[in-house]
Amino acid sequence: MRKVLFAASECVPFVKTGGLADVVGSLPKVFDKSEFDIRVMLPMYECIKDQYKSQMQTVYYFQMDNIVYVGVMKLELDGITYYFIDNKQYFSGSKPYFDLFTDLERFAYFSKAVLSALPLIGFRPDIIHCHDWQSALIPVYLNTVFQGDPFFQGIRTIMTIHNIRFQGTWNVGHLQYVSRLPHEVFEPTKLVSPFQDTSLPKSDWTASMLRGGLVYSDWITTVSNSYAYEIQTPQFSDGLDDILLCRNQRLKGIVNGLDYQIWNPETDANIAETYNIENFIAKRNANKIALQKELGLNPDPSVFTLGIVSRLTDQKGLDLVDQIMDQLCETRMNLVVLGTGDPHYENMFRHYQSKYPNKIAAIIGYSEELSHRIYAGVDALLVPSAFEPCGLTQLISLRYGTVPIVHEIGGLKDTVQPFNQYDNTGTGFGFKGYHSQELMDRINHAMYLFYNDKATWNGIQKRAMEQDWSWKNSCEVYRQLYLGM
Ligand code: ADP
Repeated sequence: MRKVLFAASECVPFVKTGGLADVVGSLPKVFDKSEFDIRVMLPMYECIKDQYKSQMQTVYYFQMDNIVYVGVMKLELDGITYYFIDNKQYFSGSKPYFDLFTDLERFAYFSKAVLSALPLIGFRPDIIHCHDWQSALIPVYLNTVFQGDPFFQGIRTIMTIHNIRFQGTWNVGHLQYVSRLPHEVFEPTKLVSPFQDTSLPKSDWTASMLRGGLVYSDWITTVSNSYAYEIQTPQFSDGLDDILLCRNQRLKGIVNGLDYQIWNPETDANIAETYNIENFIAKRNANKIALQKELGLNPDPSVFTLGIVSRLTDQKGLDLVDQIMDQLCETRMNLVVLGTGDPHYENMFRHYQSKYPNKIAAIIGYSEELSHRIYAGVDALLVPSAFEPCGLTQLISLRYGTVPIVHEIGGLKDTVQPFNQYDNTGTGFGFKGYHSQELMDRINHAMYLFYNDKATWNGIQKRAMEQDWSWKNSCEVYRQLYLGM
């Protein structure tokens, strides 16, 4: 029996701000329980729903380094054991993340507490699987501060990059203060870039927690093959291409899967009419009408309806959407937006909604339930991201028979097959150059088929729904990785 511990800052159903939570919430469940014991460790955020908090039990508490309180809570849910690192000073508040300066200390604490707790709770993993910068110091602590303890010898680590843009970067002085890691790790080629100007005082050098995870882990994975290549280039690496190139024999791209229990149009309790590949055409129309009514648009299934479900940030290609919005609104269409994030983009969509109230419905907020109704009710989903490690919204969209229109990059390129009119293949639409007119061209092409060639349009939807983006294939790749370590 192989024992694996996931350490992460988000996990469905406890706390979610993006795709990381979907992955950490679904991947452990797909492994064969007779072969793997996979458990998950998360921060005990105050914002976790009472429904879960009330079921947790305290398994241990202690003072880490004789000064800092660590409580360990436990909850079994759907066959998975979850542990929560409890410290009110660090994890109270209404949300999981605050400003980066504060978060650095909170997640340095979390990473050290994960390791400190293990000998006390009766679980010694063979592998610790770390996700993103918030748990990236685990391999660093393991190979330095904890190295002398026989309990930890032989524990292997994997560092998974869900988004290289976020690294937990600050100056050495502060990171050293919050982590109490030894001086030796704050050197160029370790947590510090080899290109650091070393003539500056050392405490002013820049250090990256994610870099630490990449240097000290046994394996590095990221969430699609294309992204694994892209991040080895300066254009996409956010300054980490040196270490990724250096370690590329230990770097694997493994595309994310989707939780097919949560994302299943046949059983989805959030949508007006459930459907499957046999009856999707009529039923999706009913869902579209229900969605249009819910959002105050004119209920008319014959109108081409686009959707966006996204964090509203620079990454997501919303500058391209901004540039085509007036042009788009001259056509016969609706656009439904669900998102929250950068105030600039929130206001941009509020502006277009007030300018084109009959065409645009912008819901600035976060709603899991509404997101399901959008996937089931719109004809096409826009995902024009500037970069996209994997992307889950296009996978959900394929599953729901919503045609994705994507920038062919990262995971979008690996999961959406662009429509080819010559041999009538493809599961969506893709554009290669990051230009607004290319996006507009693809929308026009989709709209043309929707209005003029329903057989071809429905064929794309059907092929999309026939795809299998569950965890089945990727689980096998992780399985081989775990067994080989
Ligand atoms: P990222 O992790 O970069 O945000 P992904 O495409 O990997 O992007 O995952 C986004 C996930 O978050 C999807 O499950 C999507 O449905 C969900 N999501 C994004 N924004 C919202 C929102 N405003 N309301 C509900 N769900 C959202």
